[in-house]
Amino acid sequence: MNETDIKHLRRCVELAGEALDAGDEPFGSVLVDGEGRVLAEDRNRIADGDSTRHPEFALARWAAENMAPEQRRKATVYTSGEHCPMCAAAHGWVGLGRIVYASSSEQLSAWLSELGLAPPPVATLPINTVVPGLPVEGPVPELAEQVHALHRRLHAST
Ligand SMILES: [Zn+2]
Repeated sequence: MNETDIKHLRRCVELAGEALDAGDEPFGSVLVDGEGRVLAEDRNRIADGDSTRHPEFALARWAAENMAPEQRRKATVYTSGEHCPMCAAAHGWVGLGRIVYASSSEQLSAWLSELGLAPPPVATLPINTVVPGLPVEGPVPELAEQVHALHRRLHAST
């Protein structure tokens, strides 16, 4: 992981903060092509009742519609929180490349339990359990702590 990776992850955490400010859960993701260009970004949009509207899922569908298979393979998806199994599967099905995340699913599970909240309805499997062989990097302790703070804010306000 290099400075450029950290820069994109910081943007993901910023998008997660925007999601939280908009009344959604704090998750944000960025899609970067093999030449380092940011092609698309999104944040969580589940507040209206569709719990599948995760940013990683939206980016996988964007990639399927807008990128050639070879371009997808060379792309990297950065995200504030490790892909859930649904998003990891979508990522794998459309043939996207590397994933870099700021905080892990394991960390999210620990935070929810620490806040006395029920675990999510879908198991928090590591990405490589869903998509074997995919290059995956994370978490980044300093940024994970920022994501943790966003989750504490989410549940403090409800
Ligand atoms: Zn997801």
